[in-house]
Amino acid sequence: MGRRRSKRKPPPKRKAIEPLDIQFTCPFCNSEKSCEVIMDHGRKIGQITCNICQEDFTTTINALTEALDVYNEWIDECDKANENPNQVERSALSRTRDESDSDDDD
Ligand SMILES: [Zn+2]
Repeated sequence: MGRRRSKRKPPPKRKAIEPLDIQFTCPFCNSEKSCEVIMDHGRKIGQITCNICQEDFTTTINALTEALDVYNEWIDECDKANENPNQVERSALSRTRDESDSDDDD
């Protein structure tokens, strides 16, 4: 079996070094990857904004907080709001907010 055949190895699959996936599906408009997280470690603020519907959410972060955590917190808040639309008050969210930055929710 003298088949001469140059062994051509497929190029090694190089894992594309992507930046952390910081684009998430929007819980409001359900657009995939429309939400971008911006981590401002200097001010310890994580902000996520939907490029489609402009919904946004800001939370405090620390050195260990990842973009995904910011997103998860957002989802948490959305869930709470959905479960108890009349009971959610920002003052109840004592663990995230100590500055009153009162954006309108709607
Ligand atoms: Zn959206």
